[in-house]
Amino acid sequence: MSRRNPGWALGAVLALGASTTALSAQAPAIPNLAGKVLTVLGPIEPAALGPTLMHEHIFIDFKAPPPMAPPPTGIFVLKTQQPALAGERGSGGLTDFDTQLAEIREFKKAGGGTIVDVTNFGLTRDPEALYRVSEASDLHVVMGAGWYMKTLHPPDMNERTVEELTDILVRDITVGAQGTNIRSGIIGEVGTGNFGDKGPLTENELKSVRASARASRLTGAPILIHSFAPPDELQRALDLIEAEGVDLNHVVMGHTGTGDVAAMKRYTDRGAYIEFDFMGQAPGAMGSSGTLEQSAERIATNIEALIDAGLTERILIAHDVCITAQLKKNGGGGFAYISTMVVPALRAKGVSDATIRTIMVENPRRVLTFVAPQSLVTRQ
Ligand SMILES: [Zn+2]
Repeated sequence: MSRRNPGWALGAVLALGASTTALSAQAPAIPNLAGKVLTVLGPIEPAALGPTLMHEHIFIDFKAPPPMAPPPTGIFVLKTQQPALAGERGSGGLTDFDTQLAEIREFKKAGGGTIVDVTNFGLTRDPEALYRVSEASDLHVVMGAGWYMKTLHPPDMNERTVEELTDILVRDITVGAQGTNIRSGIIGEVGTGNFGDKGPLTENELKSVRASARASRLTGAPILIHSFAPPDELQRALDLIEAEGVDLNHVVMGHTGTGDVAAMKRYTDRGAYIEFDFMGQAPGAMGSSGTLEQSAERIATNIEALIDAGLTERILIAHDVCITAQLKKNGGGGFAYISTMVVPALRAKGVSDATIRTIMVENPRRVLTFVAPQSLVTRQ
């Protein structure tokens, strides 16, 4: 590991109960959240999650964040200036509190329990709004961390080191996000690739992926990847995460879900989860054709192919609500589309309640449960 940042190993060692305490004042222990899920309201028992949407954006606006400068210089809890995102929204996003509260209440009404909001830097994350909307809706909310697609990286991303990025993530998970004490419970969605971009991962993407893996190793938090890079590059990202000592059973490959069993097995054979997401847009919007019912039928057919191939325990579903055309009030399926249309379409195909429960409850629970913090992998 880098000599620049000895505090990481120390924090992890302290968290693991070693007797070294001399430097604890400058390197607070990383809490051991093994066996818990970390929501915006604090850690909870995994059994409390209920049906879970693994990839949503309750509030979102696509907008590059401000610089992360000045560069951090401390040890472990560095004096990093976190991007202050609230109140700097662009236009056209999902930003109205009461509208979004009403939309997610539809999921609660349909029996929902938890929403994983993987809005992070570059998507105008608002920890306090997530806290308030969780309280008001009585839904558990798990908040994301990290860097989205490279086009929305902060302007000083080139200058930031892997150690600095790791520090920001660990701080998000152990101390709080953007100056609050509201903590992230998942690292993601971690940007890879771009719309139509078939090139290799860039240096900044590799730094972001590596920092995500290190922060996962140090805290025990799961990772969710925004998988827009070409398939071979996504395998490379998994290689990198694995090389940092992260068990791929805690990694979700967002936006991968298709009925192509061979393509999906490239992820699931390694332990990673595949995810059916971005759905429920109003007919005609963003490439959707046909009615919401017809779209649900197509999605269910693809999911059924993977169930038949034995991949049930690696399938996740979510709407990836991120545009206004997905809201129920605008003719979209909203946050209850899966519960009210996709799940019934699966049932109509003969998929059992037990299988549906595995996909909607048990798989998210398994992914979101923290593992014990570990020291960084050391290299020669
Ligand atoms: Zn995404």
